[in-house]
Amino acid sequence: MKAAQYIKAGEIAYQDVPVSPLGDDELRIKVAYCGICGTDLHIFKGHMDARVRAPQAIGHEVSGTVAEVGKNVSDFRINEKVTVRPLDNCGTCNTCRAGFTHICEKLRFLGIETAGAFAQYWTVPARLVHHLPETLPLKLAALVEPLAVACHDVRRSELKPDDKVVVSGGGPIGMLIALCARATGGRVTISEINEKRLALARSLGFDAVNPQQTDLVAKVRAETGGSGADVVFEVSGSEAGAKVMTELARPRATIVMVAIFAKPAPVDLHKFFWKELRMVGARVYEYEDYEKAIRLVADKALPLESLISSVFPLAQLQDAFDYLTKSPDAMKVLIQCNEEIQ
Ligand SMILES: [Zn+2]
Ligand SMILES: [Zn+2]
Repeated sequence: MKAAQYIKAGEIAYQDVPVSPLGDDELRIKVAYCGICGTDLHIFKGHMDARVRAPQAIGHEVSGTVAEVGKNVSDFRINEKVTVRPLDNCGTCNTCRAGFTHICEKLRFLGIETAGAFAQYWTVPARLVHHLPETLPLKLAALVEPLAVACHDVRRSELKPDDKVVVSGGGPIGMLIALCARATGGRVTISEINEKRLALARSLGFDAVNPQQTDLVAKVRAETGGSGADVVFEVSGSEAGAKVMTELARPRATIVMVAIFAKPAPVDLHKFFWKELRMVGARVYEYEDYEKAIRLVADKALPLESLISSVFPLAQLQDAFDYLTKSPDAMKVLIQCNEEIQ
């Protein structure tokens, strides 16, 4: 089969590779689309060479159809539409046994620690595969994985209808969180410094603010009787975001940490004490977040099409990464891995 393999920092090669053998408990998926994740971009830039075994296909935001099933797999049929929850947990560590398999202490992320989906076929454990409704377009289904991240973040926030919500950072995940939070009844303001992303947020009906031009804290306080936001999602991963989150929050508010901070950022812990704030981490997703995301896509509840910046064929994965590296405005980029399935 053809695969677009990560070779080294900045280099992808479109190559013939053997299809990996099918285990008894595995499925072989004919990949329709695979989205490029922020993590994939980090790998492309060479930041994660310790976790990836080059040459290796990466990619995990997948949609496709079942091509082949292992002999112990009974609940999937050939050609049905599927997506993958790419978290291969150990099942035996204390965290798995407590039910938190998504943050397993020995978690293997499919498409990072194992061969990924920027290929014509992807072979994965059947227990990580989710059924998709037959009417669901496979292009949109490639957004289930990032949307499941957003569903998990919003669930962790415990936000209630009419809550004032600030999403700090308006990239793909920030925008999906904003959409989920609004669908849950939140009154959402998006904070973002990129003008194109601000324009996109506004076109989707959001209140969107550039905090370098507008006093965001004053604005949110003015809208909340002086108190502040009920829920703050920190998605920017910036020092400025970490600094302002405790100011944006009202007393007893919840701050959800979504961004991956590469190094520690200063946080005003006095405000945590003074306002009795609650901070929750939110990493990837659980089974129910995936099912929720699939329902949201199937119900056409969210304007997901407008988050797709462009689609490249598998042979041009290198170009897609180069485009993303040079385009800070870009939102979601999808790779079409087989021509004939839609
Ligand atoms: Zn992802
Ligand atoms: Zn485990």
